[in-house]
Amino acid sequence: MNTKVAIKDRLKMLGIKPSLQRMAIMECLLEHPVHPTVDMIFNQLSPTIPTLSKTTVYNTLKLLSEERAIHTVNIDEKNVRYDGDILPHAHFKCKSCGKIMDVHFQGLEALKIKQLHGLQIDECQLLYKGYCQTCQHEIKQTTNN
Ligand SMILES: [Zn+2]
Ligand SMILES: [Zn+2]
Repeated sequence: MNTKVAIKDRLKMLGIKPSLQRMAIMECLLEHPVHPTVDMIFNQLSPTIPTLSKTTVYNTLKLLSEERAIHTVNIDEKNVRYDGDILPHAHFKCKSCGKIMDVHFQGLEALKIKQLHGLQIDECQLLYKGYCQTCQHEIKQTTNN
């Protein structure tokens, strides 16, 4: 699937004008599914878009998340992270290296409820914490030595 076309369609469907900068920010999010911060996206894009400012990145991400083209993830205590994957998925945060990964599994769709006991539910965030494969490996090596 052509990412650029998919992004343009997603923005258009939500009534967002697919400007060059919006497209670039969306593309950056989808190509780097590491749940980047404003700074990470800015640093990634500024060499190719010299006119881009950090404020524009921030405002664009705010608009995109308000229109639900992307999701905000409040896992990091210091920074809001952004997620281009809007399908239901859980997150995993490594307690050692801080990496945030996507976790997909069966049955997750069932958690996506709109109403519960008279409550209107807009979003659901499921977070697992533990140690990623790399860190598990490193911990094992340190204990062996
Ligand atoms: Zn780790
Ligand atoms: Zn995610």
